Amino acid sequence: MQRLLSGIQPTGELHIGNYLGAVKNWVLLQGSYETFYCIVDLHAMTLPYDPNDMSQRTLELAKTLLACGIDPELSVFFVQSHVKEHTELAWILMCLATMGELSRMTQFKEKSSEQKELATAGLFTYPVLQAADILLYKAEVVPVGEDQVQHLEFTRDVCRRFNSRFGEFFPAPRALLSTTPRIMGLDGQTKMSKSRNNHIPLLATPDQIWSLLKGAYTDPARLRRYDPGHPEICNIFTIHHGFSAQELVASIESDCKTAKIGCMDCKKMLAQNMAQNLEPIRERYSSLKDAQVLEILGAGAKKAQVVAKETMAEVRQKLGLLSL
Ligand code: ATP
Ligand code: MG
Repeated sequence: MQRLLSGIQPTGELHIGNYLGAVKNWVLLQGSYETFYCIVDLHAMTLPYDPNDMSQRTLELAKTLLACGIDPELSVFFVQSHVKEHTELAWILMCLATMGELSRMTQFKEKSSEQKELATAGLFTYPVLQAADILLYKAEVVPVGEDQVQHLEFTRDVCRRFNSRFGEFFPAPRALLSTTPRIMGLDGQTKMSKSRNNHIPLLATPDQIWSLLKGAYTDPARLRRYDPGHPEICNIFTIHHGFSAQELVASIESDCKTAKIGCMDCKKMLAQNMAQNLEPIRERYSSLKDAQVLEILGAGAKKAQVVAKETMAEVRQKLGLLSL
């Protein structure tokens, strides 16, 4: 079985973009790959955050992921900061990454926005830590949303550089995209993000789903109810793919184009299907206890540490470091 790894930051509530872009796939891929899933708390320190609720956010994210169907019997499920080798390998890769290539990363440009001079070195070198997360486990496949494809390309470049300087060692990982790799935010301005408050939380109740969906941005060219719509550019239509049956998606597509249905009709159907799909996740979430989740994460960290230690022993040797 090929090894697969992916991670998610404890920067806020898991949303339907994370779910349709990555997590739904994570669940489906279990059993077909040797799966490693990681809550990347060190990445969540690259922007200002509140240390008083970091551990709670990490625990809640773990609980939500378990509720989505991450199965600790099938996957190594752990928290990044519990495996110290992530930062050790990140430093080594930092010495292979160039300022030029890191400067071209669009996520850094977006997240540092107007305050480039005040952005932390951690935010700038974020992709290096991400490369370390992947290479530490010699993962070959990385299921992510479209926003992470550039970081994956960077990981492949650093991986090739390591292999050509120190000898063939790491397999080059490839990104695996879902059928809905980019969900836009409810404001239609940028992608849906935990940290931008433009999202539908995965644990939203049916009422919350509807109150968020009804004001969501749709097709800007469809100003009046009887204007023909353009489902191919409408975020609501994209989200339908993730929650509605194929036949319904097909009928919405033609009914929108011919203005048989309006945006509110389309949103109502989506709200209903989304609520139905997410109900079992909300139920499982509320049945999970903190102690249970901590135990699962403890066992996951132990399994991850074994692999990480093995990789680093070989890496140190390849780098020519003195061993005692
Ligand atoms: P933040 O705003 O803190 O960066 P985020 O919502 O972007 O949070 P991440 O933890 O950075 O979430 O990413 C977790 C996974 O979810 C990644 O695989 C990422 O590609 C995917 N993802 C994030 N946002 C979207 C989206 N809008 N559509 C599809 N996939 C997404
Ligand atoms: Mg992100």
